[in-house]
Amino acid sequence: MRIPILAGNWKMNKTAAEAVALVNTMKDELLAVKSVERVLCPPFLAVPDVSHLVAGTEIKVGAQDLYWEKSGAFTGEVAPNMVAEFCQYVIIGHSERREYFSETDACVNKKIKAALAVGLIPIVCVGESLSLRQEGRTESWIIGQVKAALDGLTAEQVAGLVIAYEPIWAIGTGLAATADEAERVCGQVVRKTIADVCGDAVAQAIRVQYGGSVKASNALELMGKPDIDGALVGGASLNASEFVSIVKSSAQAKGLS
Ligand code: PEP
Repeated sequence: MRIPILAGNWKMNKTAAEAVALVNTMKDELLAVKSVERVLCPPFLAVPDVSHLVAGTEIKVGAQDLYWEKSGAFTGEVAPNMVAEFCQYVIIGHSERREYFSETDACVNKKIKAALAVGLIPIVCVGESLSLRQEGRTESWIIGQVKAALDGLTAEQVAGLVIAYEPIWAIGTGLAATADEAERVCGQVVRKTIADVCGDAVAQAIRVQYGGSVKASNALELMGKPDIDGALVGGASLNASEFVSIVKSSAQAKGLS
């Protein structure tokens, strides 16, 4: 059984002080939902404070990015071992980074390898734009992104990744994919591609999240789908009661306490 993973991507929101306040408002309720993995991904400058606040608990911390080089003259970047000092997870290849910071599939692959090298678990984002969807190219696009991300990884490494299927047209728009559509892409496209590349055992082990306008009102239906192993949550993760409700719904949907 794959343990569902619910990750809150706070994006470029919350100062360190605000992040601490937000964690304090939801920490106890998040800790009560023991059956799913709970990950908070604050902006870099809030990561150390959040990490200290949840140290010794089951709440994990994720970064929103890293750089693939180990150290050196890369002004503004954050090295893998710097992230690993505070985090267990790292989001890689979010569509906002691909769009606004020109991240390519090759760059995403390098970041995944760099993260794995320091023991971080990558949450690898893939997803199609509205125009690709309208052109009927969703499947081929996602297959290409998944294959490029996995290039050069061992089957064991792939099994330990988290893939977040995040249709770009659903991110921050309030228009989530339907549960059936999200399930179809997570299962028949993402998991099937992994099966083709690494075999069925790996495809059954890897966790595939859905992301894109997940909120308290749609989480139960989305998380009830068998090929959806949790969610990457943006906007709603900045609201303590919404995020807690999504986490609770995911446990309920999977028949977990
Ligand atoms: C995201 O940024 O990963 C995301 C899914 O955002 P939202 O939930 O706001 O659509």
